[in-house]
Amino acid sequence: MDVPCVRVPREEGETTRRELADADLIADEFEITVAEGWLYIPVTDPGAVPGHLEVVSYEVPERETLTTPADVLGEELSYERLGDVVLLDEDADERALELAEAILESDLPVEAVLNKASKIKGETRVRDWEVLAGDGTETVHREYGCEFLLDLAEVYFSPRLATERHRVAEQVEADERAFDMFAGVGPFVIPFANRGAECVGVDVNERAIAYLEENARRNGVTDRITAICDDVRAVAPDYEGWADRIVMNLPHSADAFLESAVTVAGDDCVLHYYDIQHEDDPYGPGERAIREAAGSAYEVSVETRRTVRSYAPHELNVCLDVRLER
Ligand code: SAM
Repeated sequence: MDVPCVRVPREEGETTRRELADADLIADEFEITVAEGWLYIPVTDPGAVPGHLEVVSYEVPERETLTTPADVLGEELSYERLGDVVLLDEDADERALELAEAILESDLPVEAVLNKASKIKGETRVRDWEVLAGDGTETVHREYGCEFLLDLAEVYFSPRLATERHRVAEQVEADERAFDMFAGVGPFVIPFANRGAECVGVDVNERAIAYLEENARRNGVTDRITAICDDVRAVAPDYEGWADRIVMNLPHSADAFLESAVTVAGDDCVLHYYDIQHEDDPYGPGERAIREAAGSAYEVSVETRRTVRSYAPHELNVCLDVRLER
């Protein structure tokens, strides 16, 4: 069957396979195939493949040895994977247990199956999880060559934003100064520091900051990351005029923190502002709020208006990349 594949000369195969595996992009249900000196590596999301690699459509065989949860269950099911944990969003208890059993019986490398037990809540944006199988909510997630240890019961984390985070990280240059106002376990600042940036990550959740520090160690970037556990509004004055780049990933309420962002912004600073808005005007509210906060001190130019994903019916999760020049 024809599937999207990365095509590389055979001798570059292992390096490329590792790069794609680190980004969790290899479609395990198909065989990696060699033909006429080329290696064809099936991928799950051709849009997320790094720009230097070629994506083609190619006929590769399905893996016969891998039993999927759908094979066990006899029907399709939807789930997310985060490291060796499988995440379900199932209201009915019996159905959730049935799915968990099918997942454990399958060939997926799984240590635990969790079901969403609440919405994302409060200031720390953590949700409750019901552990259906396995014994924990901590896992190691790999994303574009970086490794993140995190506990879903203690911190916010969404694997769905991997492509978006990579898009932003690719803009980062060595020696720039980056400030993440809502850093979580470090999925922005760690790849930024990997590219040579000096980073500050702030979060009000002390467990997130503990994981951020551990993840800085795991990824060998402790010397380029300062992790601060506090309300970012209290931290901002200490970094007045400091940042070349600011990340604000606190959709729904980022506008309330724009005054702090303007405090931290240097003379020429790019702001990555995440928002959730109605599809009729997804960028307008954010853009107006940023212009108002910047006032006459900065010239404001919107460099990118981007829909990250659909959030709910008629609601979009968007990102504005905005340059502030004093
Ligand atoms: N940037 C991370 C990511 O992409 O995984 C985390 C984003 S999460 C949506 C927002 C984070 O902001 C949470 O970890 C929460 O604890 C933190 N937060 C909320 N209010 C804050 C505040 N006033 N100051 C600092 N951090 C805050």
